[in-house]
Amino acid sequence: MPALDPTVRHLYVHVPFCPTICPYCDFHVLTRRAGLVERYLERLEEESAWLAGAYAVDLDTVYIGGGTPSFLRDAELTGLVESVRRHLGWGRAENTLEINPGTVSPARAALWRDLGFDRASVGVQSLDNATLKFLGRQHDARQAREAVTTLVGAGFRVSGDLITAVPGQPLEADIRGLVELGVGHVSAYTLTVEPGTEFARRGVTVEEEDERRGFEETEACLTALGFSRYEISNYARPGQESRHNLAYWEGRTYLGLGPGAAGHYPAAPGEAALTLRRTNPHLHDWLVGGQGEAEAVLPEDYVTDALFMGLRLRAGLDLADLSRRSGVDVRTRYAAPIAANVARGLLALEGDRLRATPGGWWVLNRVVTDFLEAERPACPD
Ligand code: SF4
Repeated sequence: MPALDPTVRHLYVHVPFCPTICPYCDFHVLTRRAGLVERYLERLEEESAWLAGAYAVDLDTVYIGGGTPSFLRDAELTGLVESVRRHLGWGRAENTLEINPGTVSPARAALWRDLGFDRASVGVQSLDNATLKFLGRQHDARQAREAVTTLVGAGFRVSGDLITAVPGQPLEADIRGLVELGVGHVSAYTLTVEPGTEFARRGVTVEEEDERRGFEETEACLTALGFSRYEISNYARPGQESRHNLAYWEGRTYLGLGPGAAGHYPAAPGEAALTLRRTNPHLHDWLVGGQGEAEAVLPEDYVTDALFMGLRLRAGLDLADLSRRSGVDVRTRYAAPIAANVARGLLALEGDRLRATPGGWWVLNRVVTDFLEAERPACPD
C-alpha cells in the first residue's frame, strides 16, 4: 500500500502581472489594466478558501512567483499575503518572494520582511548592461546591484537568477559580481527561444556550443566560490538550498494558487490514482471560476515523474522511500532500465540511492524514456 503524506505542505502562488513583457518570456504574464488586479485578488481569496476546504494543509513553504509579484503595490501584496494566511496559513520553514530589481527600496524590503518573507529570489539575469539590454530587461546593472545589496542588508536569504548562453555575455564577471553581493543561491538557466515569443519572431538562436560552455563555466566558477550544484540549474552554499523547489524535485504534493498555476494534490482515499495534477486556466477563465485541466496520476506515473524530477538533483533519490510513497517496488519494476543506464555510465546506484552522473544529466530525457518504455506492455508474439 502506498504511504503518501495526505497533508499538503507547500504552496505556490502565481502573480501574472509584469510591467512589460520580456522578449524571451513564454510564461503566462500580462501587463496590468484598471480593475484587473482587484479582481485577481478577490478570486485568489475565493480559491484559497476552496483549497483550504478541499485538502489537509499544513505549510512548510510558500513561494510567491510570477510574473513579478514585487510589481504589486504595497497594499495589494499585503492583501494577498493576508488572504493566504487567513485560509491556508504560512510556511514554517521558508517563504519566498520573487522580486524584480527595479521594484526594490529599503522601505519595501522592510515591508516584505514584516509580511513574513525570509527568502528573496531576484531576477538579476546579468550584471552587464549590454546583456540586460539584449534581454529586454527593464533594470540596469546598477539597479540589480543595489537591489541585492538592499535585500541582503534587510536579512533575506537571497537567490539570484542568471541567464546564460547570451551572445557576448561576460558570464564569469556576472557570476563573481553576484556572489560578491552576498547571494547564497544562484539559479542559472540557459537562454531558450520558445515558439511565440518576440525572440522567436526575430529569429534569435542559441548555439548548443554556447549552451554547453555556459553550463561548464557556471559550474566551474560557482564551485570555486564555495557553491554546490545541487540541481542541474541550481547552486547553493551549504544550507541555502531552496526548500520549496526541493519539494518539487522530490515529488511532494503542493497547492497551486492563481491563474496558470500548477498544483500536485493527493488523490482521495480509495481512488486508483495516487495523486492529481491540475493546472489552472489563464487569467480570464480563472477569474470566472474555471477549474483548468486535471490529470489523475497512477502509481507508475508517479514513479516516472518522481524519477524525472529527482534525477535532476545531484543527490538523486532514495528508491526505498519512493517505493514506500508510491506502493510500487521500484527496484524490481524498473530493474532493466536501471541496470542498462548504470552500465552506460549515465546512472549510479549506491545502496538505495539512484542518481544521474554528470554525463547522465545531459541526456536525462533519454534516460527517463527508458523507464517510460519499461511501463509499456510487451508486444504479443
Ligand atoms: S519579468 Fe519574468 S515573468 Fe515578467 S515578462 Fe520578464 S521574464 Fe516574463
